[in-house]
Amino acid sequence: MNNANDKTFPDIRDAVRDLCAQFPDAYFRRIDEARGYPAEFVDALTRAGWLAALIPQAYGGSGLGLTEASVIMEEINRCGGNSGACHGQMYNMGTLLRHGSEAQKRAYLPKIAKGELRLQSMGVTEPTTGTDTTKIRTTAVKKGDRYVINGQKVWISRIQHSELMILLARTTPLADVKKKSEGMSIFIVDLREAIGKGLTVQPILNMVNHETNELFFENLEIPAENLIGEEGQGFRYILDGLNAERTLIAAECIGDGYWFIDRVTAYTKERVVFGRPIGQNQGVQFPIAEAFIEVEAANLMRYEACRLFDAHQPCGAQANMAKYLAAKASWEAANACLQFHGGFGFACEYDIERKFRETRLYQVAPISTNLILSYVAEHMLGLPRSF
Ligand SMILES: Cc1cc2nc3c(=O)[nH]c(=O)nc-3n(C[C@H](O)[C@H](O)[C@H](O)COP(=O)(O)OP(=O)(O)OC[C@H]3O[C@@H](n4cnc5c(N)ncnc54)[C@H](O)[C@@H]3O)c2cc1C
Repeated sequence: MNNANDKTFPDIRDAVRDLCAQFPDAYFRRIDEARGYPAEFVDALTRAGWLAALIPQAYGGSGLGLTEASVIMEEINRCGGNSGACHGQMYNMGTLLRHGSEAQKRAYLPKIAKGELRLQSMGVTEPTTGTDTTKIRTTAVKKGDRYVINGQKVWISRIQHSELMILLARTTPLADVKKKSEGMSIFIVDLREAIGKGLTVQPILNMVNHETNELFFENLEIPAENLIGEEGQGFRYILDGLNAERTLIAAECIGDGYWFIDRVTAYTKERVVFGRPIGQNQGVQFPIAEAFIEVEAANLMRYEACRLFDAHQPCGAQANMAKYLAAKASWEAANACLQFHGGFGFACEYDIERKFRETRLYQVAPISTNLILSYVAEHMLGLPRSF
């Protein structure tokens, strides 16, 4: 495949590819079949320091930019793996880094950089309110030197492979705030102390082998010092972190997209039906070429989002558009790859059905495609607000 990406950041790409080569397709296939967690793979990434890319050197990380971090995530997916098992460890700490106190940063970031603490989880979504985040019902009420938490979250990922979670809860009732985005706060929850003492975790079996859970809070007490930043500003802090998350996930989708295109081009050159390679038929070529064009275009937007983020400029629009384009492009590439493998696309040993499921997630989570369209319509085009 002749794409520009292979020539950017060759040192990072080579090093991540070397590490990924120790975890071939069969490894991820076995983990998927067992609905397991790729612990050895995540440990190897942690030991090599890749998941600490965005943590500044002063706190034990490598202090790289989002651009370099996105190349790491892209390469994992491009090699056949799934960054979804561990991407939270790379970006969830951003909330702490930007809004935490110096004492909190000193307490957590060096340990997160070493992998001694995993901050892989972020609890925002709730079953009754869905995407309408300002209506969340989980509350945190201050009582002396503690906050008492009650409520419910759903789809909270990697709880069973995290020591820490960032939690969004309402600290002032919706009825008592001027703007609906006010009155929410974020906390760091130590899961080792919380589970079984006010927090109950219920795993959700799902289409992807993605460890995700329903959480029930019943009078969970956490120290007041676990509040991050100012009380009532949590929604704004969460939004601040989403640009990095969306851009990194765009890069993962781009890695997936190239993986599907590599596989389908190789296969359609080899597979002979009606006396010629199926890739000689334009009915086969065109959907693959179309998907390739879309992945390449999404890639440009991903680099633009990274460039702005690293220059500390507003990048909400570009991060959203990169995520939209990349998730759509990887899905088109997945669809073409599955289609042109015919029946073999459905055989687990080809890994296509696994990657097909994995990449499909990103049109729904962490933000659904419709909500990105709504953002662009309202914030970029000035159309009237619909909600
Ligand atoms: C595997 C997995 C892992 C996840 N991990 C996490 C996690 O770690 N932490 C976390 O907090 N959340 C997590 N989520 C939740 C995820 O962010 C949400 O599922 C997603 O944001 C959509 O919210 P919802 O499921 O409540 O859908 P809803 O809000 O119920 O929406 C359903 C559909 O309706 C559409 N829709 C809703 N309102 C409108 C509108 N006004 N206009 C047009 N379309 C609309 C949406 O686009 C969507 O397609 C995860 C989800 C999954 C599936």
